[in-house]
Amino acid sequence: MPEVLLLVELAIELAFSILAIRAIVSWVRQPDRRHGHLALALASLAILILLAPALGGTGPVPQALTDLGIALFLISGYGLLMFRDSFVPFPTWPRRLLTGALVVVGVAGVALQLPSNPDSPHTPLQTLELVAIVGLWAFCMLEPILTFWLAARRRPAVEMARLRAISIGYAGLVTVVVFGTVAGSLNGAVSLAVDAVALLIVPVLYFAFFPPVWLRRMWRQPEEEQFRSAVHDLLLYSPDRVTLAEKALGWAERLVGGDAAFIVDAEGLVLASRGVTTAEATQIAMKGKFLKPTQDGRAPRREGATIIVPLDLQQGRGAIVIRSDRLMPIFGDEELSRLSQYATSLVAGLDRVTLSSKIAALERAKTDFLNIASHELRGPMTVIKGYLTMLDAGALGDLAPKARSVLPLLISKSDEVNWMIEQMIEASRLEEGRLALKRHRADIVELTDSAIDGVRMLLSGHELKVDMPVESIEADVDPDRFQIVIRNLLSNAAKYSASGTDITVDVRRDDGKALVSVHDEGIGISKEDQTSLFTRFGRIDTTQHVQGTGLGLWLSREIARMHEGDLTVESRTGRGSTFTFSVPLRH
Ligand code: ADP
Repeated sequence: MPEVLLLVELAIELAFSILAIRAIVSWVRQPDRRHGHLALALASLAILILLAPALGGTGPVPQALTDLGIALFLISGYGLLMFRDSFVPFPTWPRRLLTGALVVVGVAGVALQLPSNPDSPHTPLQTLELVAIVGLWAFCMLEPILTFWLAARRRPAVEMARLRAISIGYAGLVTVVVFGTVAGSLNGAVSLAVDAVALLIVPVLYFAFFPPVWLRRMWRQPEEEQFRSAVHDLLLYSPDRVTLAEKALGWAERLVGGDAAFIVDAEGLVLASRGVTTAEATQIAMKGKFLKPTQDGRAPRREGATIIVPLDLQQGRGAIVIRSDRLMPIFGDEELSRLSQYATSLVAGLDRVTLSSKIAALERAKTDFLNIASHELRGPMTVIKGYLTMLDAGALGDLAPKARSVLPLLISKSDEVNWMIEQMIEASRLEEGRLALKRHRADIVELTDSAIDGVRMLLSGHELKVDMPVESIEADVDPDRFQIVIRNLLSNAAKYSASGTDITVDVRRDDGKALVSVHDEGIGISKEDQTSLFTRFGRIDTTQHVQGTGLGLWLSREIARMHEGDLTVESRTGRGSTFTFSVPLRH
């Protein structure tokens, strides 16, 4: 039995030594305060455990060892308190008070010469000192247990797990120390059981203070899916910069914690803020040097209780700024590196939104221009066309034969301009969603015929062939818009084919549809160009010299589709083109 007990005690010593060595190694690798304090605490506890068998007895050496034991015990308390402070900082005065108390109690312990033999009698002062040592150490342990547990609430999954693990770690340490002390005063079997429990706690400590990668991954799992979809949302579904920044801020805070955060753009404009007013945020941003590129500008950096993550936006440098609070500690490097990854997505998202709102503004400007220009032109053109018609009819007196001879050309040109204006007006209506069809039963044959009449002047240089049935083909259409499409196809056929060639119009019914085809023998359209024909302002490079707006086919196809029909093209370069407009027949 004593051998087993000895073995278990040896195992505890070994386990603690390994834990201490692990802490020292991670401090050497990352020599910061946090790792330093943990190493200090675990190493002093490990030495204390190693010393434990040598404690007791009387004489100067055991006395010195007892003093050393007291010092180590209090140092371990200090290390753990400061480790807690590195996560959830104490205000200055409690930190100083606690440190002072530890020093005073330590010095008093040595000065009072606590008896090295626990069985020897204590003076009342010595008893008080013993209570002070145990009490202070207990505070150094219990306060962090509570603080870490409380700080874990409302935290993202990883941080919550990590804080809880550390809290459990502290509780584990308390248990080991309490059990270790109790075990010494118990008889064989019970002492063995208590020691065994202490030994079993050591792995818990290991996982709590040095969580392996697989454990951290497990902690992260519940958050991972949400995080991925948040990044996805960020990149895809944000309508504007402010909405995007607001969404992003929520996640940024979640990744590292913080009670106040804001996102500022390159011009110092605060896009979103939480826990701080926009005015305050603007002030902080103006004072801080966040927006000035520094050498290592891309990496997130800590400035006191603040984290600054630079955002390298297209317009210049912006930043996410997050300030931590007492119970919401700013987290480790892993969280920072995730924040920096997240910032990269945010930059892409913000740039995309900026770009698309610029494009939208440009599009709006184009539509506005179309709208204004077409309406401004319409008035004067009506007057010009009116007088030309009157001149042509002789209503304004006789003209010299030479002057009269140019009138048909002037009228046809003014028709062309009027036609363009009409297209522009319809296009801007369509853009603004104001193009409402007035559909009713109509005869497609008749409508096509009157559309041809409307542009007969334009077709005068060509041989027009019309193939349409005598009986009517009925469909529910908006007659004016229907004719706009036909006139557009006819005027294109005339514009993009040599004069003297044939233009054929074919009206027929087929498979529940009324079809109107306009065929020309003109320049034709290559396969590649056919894709851009029906876009707004889409014009083909080789026809730039021909007058046009690039709106006609786009407008025509939209009108066709509003009728649940379509407009398609078949063409080969140099071989002419056939455009077919279809609308569903009336049932
Ligand atoms: P536009 O006012 O330029 O004629 P459209 O939208 O009607 O605008 O036509 C777009 C482009 O499609 C034209 O610029 C021209 O390059 C090409 N196109 C249209 N119809 C024909 C055709 N019948 N033959 C050859 N090219 C055509």
